[in-house]
Amino acid sequence: MNKTPRILVVDESEQSLAELESTFVSQGLTNLATARSAEEAMGLLEVNGNGQPAEALDCDLILMNIAMPGLDGIETCKLIKGDERTRDVPVIMTTSRQDFESLRQAFEAGAMDYLTKPINDVELMARVNSALALKAEIDRRKAREQELLEITAMLSKANQELKRLSSLDGLTGVANRRLFDDTLDIEWRRAIRSQTDMALVMMDIDHFKLYNDHYGHQAGDECLKKVAQARQTCLRRPADLLARYGGEEFMALLPETDQAGAGLLAEHARLAVQNLAIPHADSPVAKMVTISLGTASTIPRNGREAEALVQAADQALYQAKNQGRNQVAAGLFPLGRGEKGGA
Ligand code: GH3
Ligand code: MG
Ligand code: MG
Repeated sequence: MNKTPRILVVDESEQSLAELESTFVSQGLTNLATARSAEEAMGLLEVNGNGQPAEALDCDLILMNIAMPGLDGIETCKLIKGDERTRDVPVIMTTSRQDFESLRQAFEAGAMDYLTKPINDVELMARVNSALALKAEIDRRKAREQELLEITAMLSKANQELKRLSSLDGLTGVANRRLFDDTLDIEWRRAIRSQTDMALVMMDIDHFKLYNDHYGHQAGDECLKKVAQARQTCLRRPADLLARYGGEEFMALLPETDQAGAGLLAEHARLAVQNLAIPHADSPVAKMVTISLGTASTIPRNGREAEALVQAADQALYQAKNQGRNQVAAGLFPLGRGEKGGA
């Protein structure tokens, strides 16, 4: 124990207080507080029964007379044990006679030990020291519990962050393929239940191999990041998700969006990337980096269709590439209402 333990002595007799005080001081226990009545003790401890937090006396042991005028030691002990802030402070009762009924009540009220007056110094110190050792152990355990709580909270925060990071693509910061697959699964089932549209927009950078060949792989990485950011800003709804689907392919998942809506979003994204005006000297399509996009949408009916919708968006992208790149093509979904939409 680092600090000198704080002992509160409660006794209406000045003589008793003086005797106890002198014994404690002679044993080096100089951190004493005294009260001449239970009421005064309660005032010091701020145990007022109304749960008000206050600057309560930080106490390691209470030595209290059982029979006092006014509030007696037994009732006071109950109040002390009933208050969370003082519950763990050991209480030793002092009594002038072997009144077993009072002692039984005192133990029931939560007292830890008792001493009969006149108090023998050796007995006093033996009991006080063992009570203080118990209190020190309780304090150590509480501190460890607090430490554990803090560590647990830190770990849980770190876990959450890890989980978040593990679902993001390291280069571009958008969702990775795994998060896309999981989200598609969840949104697909939701759309089956609600019978609402679901759209996908697949996107691929035009002649990106030539870009890498001309500017180097690192510049290619930078370009990918900028394209992903531009693409991300085109998504408006909280449920929309942009994911890096493959090397230079991105996929937007758009719940409650039909083919026309997907087409508009895709065209918006195409222009956003074009407006970045990232030079692409070797592109046969334009002087800057461009993208091609394929859209597909449907009202989902069963779980197996999800894969088919991805294929429809992929086919549409292929079509956009074949038709000259830097454009949006609308895919025809076999089960959907795949009318032509967008650009
Ligand atoms: P297309 O217009 O038909 O899409 O032509 P492309 O050259 O973009 O298509 P292709 O599939 O032939 O090449 C894709 C290129 O994308 C090749 C690959 O090196 C590059 N790529 C894929 N992932 C990354 C990446 O993380 N960083 C960089 N710098 N390049 C990547
Ligand atoms: Mg590609
Ligand atoms: Mg490409």
